Amino acid sequence: MTHMNKLSQSDTKERTADACVKAAAGDANTAAAETRAAAAGPFALPELSALLDWYDKNRRILPWREDPTPYHVWISEIMLQQTRVEAVIPYYERFLAALPDVPALAAAPEELLLKLWEGLGYYSRVRNLQKAAVQLTEQYGGVLPREPKALEKLAGIGPYTAAAIASVAYQVKAPAVDGNLLRVYARLTGDPRDVGTPAAKKAAASAYAAVFPDDRPGDLNQALMDLGATVCLPNGAPHCGRCPLADRCAARRDGLTDVLPVLAKKAPRRVEHRTVFIILQGDRVLLRKRPKTGLLAGLWEFPNTEGCLSETQARAFCAALGIAQPDLALAPPARHVFTHLEWDMTAWLVTVPLGHGDGSSVPLLRHGDGSPVSLSLPDPAPLRESPAADGPDSARFIPVRTVLSDYALPSAFSAYTRLLSAILTPQD
Ligand code: SF4
Repeated sequence: MTHMNKLSQSDTKERTADACVKAAAGDANTAAAETRAAAAGPFALPELSALLDWYDKNRRILPWREDPTPYHVWISEIMLQQTRVEAVIPYYERFLAALPDVPALAAAPEELLLKLWEGLGYYSRVRNLQKAAVQLTEQYGGVLPREPKALEKLAGIGPYTAAAIASVAYQVKAPAVDGNLLRVYARLTGDPRDVGTPAAKKAAASAYAAVFPDDRPGDLNQALMDLGATVCLPNGAPHCGRCPLADRCAARRDGLTDVLPVLAKKAPRRVEHRTVFIILQGDRVLLRKRPKTGLLAGLWEFPNTEGCLSETQARAFCAALGIAQPDLALAPPARHVFTHLEWDMTAWLVTVPLGHGDGSSVPLLRHGDGSPVSLSLPDPAPLRESPAADGPDSARFIPVRTVLSDYALPSAFSAYTRLLSAILTPQD
C-alpha cells in the first residue's frame, strides 16, 4: 500500500467516524443517510444464500431450536431479553419441565412462577408470560396466533418478539430486529445513525424485509442473530475473516468496524446506598414483601432501607421492627447493578436475643473486634409480624430452609441468600 493510499484511507476513516459521531449527536443529514443505507441494502441474493449456508454449518445448538413450537420460541425469547444464552438454557429446561404448555402456564401459582424465574431478574417478564397465557386461553384456545400484529397484543410481546415467534415457529416473513440485526445492518450498510433511534430501527427493518426469503424466514433471522452473537461481535473486533457477508460489508471496506454501529451514550447509572438486614430468629429469617408496583414489585426481600446505617442507626431500625437488644454484626457488603440503578449495600446480620443459644459460630461473619459471630438458636418467640396482608408492611419469619427452597428472592440479594445458605451449612 502506498503512503498516499494509507493517508487517504485514514482520512476517509476519520471523516466517516466524524460523521458517525455527528450522527449520534443528531447533526447528521438523516435523509442522506437513509438514502445511502437504503441504496446499499443489507445484502443481495448471493450473500443471502451464503449466509444461510453459513448458518447450516455454524448455527448454535440450542434447546428451543430443537423443537421450535410457538410456545418454546416464545418462552425462550422472553427469557433471552436482558439475559445471556448460556445463562438461559438451564432456566428454560426447568421452566418447560414444570410448565410444558400454555394451560399449565396460565394455571401456575405465582410463587412457583417466581421461583422458576429466580435469578433471571426482571420478574415482570414472567408475570406478563402468565397474563398472556390467560389471554391465549380465553381468546385463542391456548394457541399462539401466527400474525405478528396479533402476537403484539399479548402481554409482554413487542415487535421483536412477535417477529421472532412468527418467523421461527410459523415461517412468516418478519425480520426480528434486535441488537444483533441492528449491528450487522449498520456495519453492512455503513449507516452512521444512532441504531437506538426509531429512524435507524425502521430503516433496518425495511431493508431486511425487502430481502426476506419465502422459504426460510425463521432461519434468516436466526442466522443474523448467530452472526451478530458469534462473528460480528458487539464488543471488541468482529471476526470479519469468518464472515459470509464480508465482501459486501461497508464497515469492513472502509475500516469502520470499530466505529459502527453508532450508539448514543447512556446516562450514567444512579448509585443508591442501602442497608440490608438479615434478621435471624433461631432457624428462621425475617422477610417482607415489596410494594405491588415499582422496582422488584411484589417480591419478597430482606428488610432494607436507604442509606448506609451505622450500628446505632441499625439498632433503631431493629427497634422499629420490635426487636430490642439485638446482637448485631456487619455482614460483607454487596453490589447489584440494575439497568439504570446500582445498589451499594451494607448489611447487618441481626440475631434476636431470645431463648438459649448453642454458641455455634458462623465463620464468615465477624464482629468489629474480629471475634466470630455467635448464632443463638432460641425457642421461637413471636415478634412484630404482620402476616395477614401482603405488601410493604407485611413481614414474617420463615424457616431458612423454606426460604432457600421455595421463595424467589431477587438476585439483588443473592450475596445474602448465599450467606443464609452458608449459615445453614456452616463450614468446619
Ligand atoms: S464483515 Fe465484519 S463488520 Fe462486516 S458484517 Fe461481517 S463481521 Fe460484521
